[in-house]
Amino acid sequence: MAKTFECRHGGIVCRAKIRGESEDEVVQKAAAHAKEKHGVDLLQARTLARYAVSLVRDE
Ligand SMILES: [Zn+2]
Repeated sequence: MAKTFECRHGGIVCRAKIRGESEDEVVQKAAAHAKEKHGVDLLQARTLARYAVSLVRDE
């Protein structure tokens, strides 16, 4: 099942929807997106990384 990540689920005003085949893939893509578009490094802090993972949903 595909996984998705949406910034807006994390309270960020952003329409990006990131998809991937696995949770890992989505989190990696979301981290790259967050760094580029929002200036936030999701994988820098463990709490943030965990929060990002919690936002991943089944499609
Ligand atoms: Zn975003």
